[in-house]
Amino acid sequence: MSAAVMSGKEVAAALRAGAAERAAKLAGDGRRPRLAVVVATADESSAWYVRSIAGAAGKAGIDCDVVDLGPGASPGDIRRSLEGLSADDGVHGIILQTPLPRGATLEDLSSAIVPGKDVDGANPLSLGRLAAGLPAFAPATAEAVVTLLEHHGVEIAGRHAVVVGRSTVVGKPAAHLLLDRNATVTVAHSRTADLAAVTRQADILVAAAGRPGLVTAAHVRPGAVVVDVGTNPTDDGGLVGDVDPAAAEHAAALTPVPGGVGPVTTALLLRHTVQAAEAARP
Ligand code: NAP
Repeated sequence: MSAAVMSGKEVAAALRAGAAERAAKLAGDGRRPRLAVVVATADESSAWYVRSIAGAAGKAGIDCDVVDLGPGASPGDIRRSLEGLSADDGVHGIILQTPLPRGATLEDLSSAIVPGKDVDGANPLSLGRLAAGLPAFAPATAEAVVTLLEHHGVEIAGRHAVVVGRSTVVGKPAAHLLLDRNATVTVAHSRTADLAAVTRQADILVAAAGRPGLVTAAHVRPGAVVVDVGTNPTDDGGLVGDVDPAAAEHAAALTPVPGGVGPVTTALLLRHTVQAAEAARP
């Protein structure tokens, strides 16, 4: 058996088109959406990611300011920048890009992003609201997981979903979103004993560990649907996921890397920015 490919490109294109339409309406009312991306790193792959967000935003009619504080920025510098952007009525969405300089953590600094502009669900308040079933922006990557599943017609309710990874940006919010859709959810992590025994119980397996090849054919129950969130750079400048290609022999369907979760994540950031702009005071 070879897995069906659950591409993210089609749903990402539809999300971008929807965001562009709504952005045009806002621009017509003199309220063009604006996203600010705060960067404090010289990391190459981060710079590539920020350029891709800025490019996609521009195409959707969303202004994108890259606020580059440099790798030498202190936690105080970053916090002050986020507070300034939070107070600026002309800015509708704010992203704090990782990695951060030594001594700065996303969990700590993202609390300076006002929840209404927290379009990547980084503020712990956003995760708390998500966990409580209250309206909040979910981290875009976690939301991309359920968006992809729903787009490809995968039944979530009543199924056993196993999420490998428990970060606040991917694993935990993905688990909450799956739970909200009535999956039975197990979260696995680096201290899980016998990972393969746990993942083989999954109808839906979400791999979000950042470990290339962690999920092998032996981790996948025949017929399971696998979402590969991992984006691991290779020596030749490419990207691989967390799922070994051999797992495709067991899976019913599998998301590709690249071209799966990644483009949906970027498109959801645009949608969230437009939503934030719509909700902002005119
Ligand atoms: P992270 O903060 O490093 O978290 C990784 C999680 O995986 C942790 O919970 C860790 O467990 C768990 N883990 C690590 N090794 C494991 C193992 N051998 N067995 C089981 N669990 C293991 O990473 P992240 O930020 O969540 O990102 C995860 C992956 O998603 C990365 O590849 C990242 O690049 C990718 N990502 C993709 C997008 C996208 O748009 N496509 C966006 C964001 C992230 P412990 O908690 O026990 O340490």
